[in-house]
Amino acid sequence: MSAARFFLFDLDNTLYPRNCGLFDHIDSLINRYLLEKIGIPAAEVDLKRRLYMKAHGTTLNGLIAHHNVDPDDYLEFVHNVPLQDYLKPDIGLKTMLAELPGKKYIFSNASNEHCLKVLDCLGLEENFSAIYDINSFDYRPKPDIAIYRELLDDIEAQAGDGVMIDDMAVNLLPAAALGMATILFTPAISNRVSSDNRQLTSLLDLPQILEEISGGRPD
Ligand SMILES: [Mg+2]
Repeated sequence: MSAARFFLFDLDNTLYPRNCGLFDHIDSLINRYLLEKIGIPAAEVDLKRRLYMKAHGTTLNGLIAHHNVDPDDYLEFVHNVPLQDYLKPDIGLKTMLAELPGKKYIFSNASNEHCLKVLDCLGLEENFSAIYDINSFDYRPKPDIAIYRELLDDIEAQAGDGVMIDDMAVNLLPAAALGMATILFTPAISNRVSSDNRQLTSLLDLPQILEEISGGRPD
């Protein structure tokens, strides 16, 4: 591809590394929601979450389908985390994003409020042109290809001009199918997976990977 004109960045476990502990905290709150609010026995919580993820894309969509939960109640509960305990301003990332030509967007399965708070803690709110979150698409999550198309329409962009970065390979599949370049964020060697995607261990290496993708050709 020639130089990218836009970027879609996942948020959780991409703009900050999984090992900072934030997502484990969110994960434990998701378990508590199933246990305390829905009344699913502790021994069945893991299995239910796996089933909901597989059949509905997210735990939330499984809970909506099977337990008629209020999505805003769920999202408020699971994102009720003291973010400042886990995140601090990331000057290196801010500088890299500021110097990277092209528009940048957040594309996340989390709530809008959570995205805003995370960007605020990382000091990155000015680096993104818009946030596409779970509220943007009536709670339909990645990897539903329909929402990728809607996002492209909304930003008036062609898939072939874009790059998507996410820590979950499954979320990159629709982007690749539509013609975007895709990069899997895999910060820990132990998390390396077999994948057709280019893999990135530090977001700061993004400019270099982009140069490889474009083959060094000028735009
Ligand atoms: Mg993620």
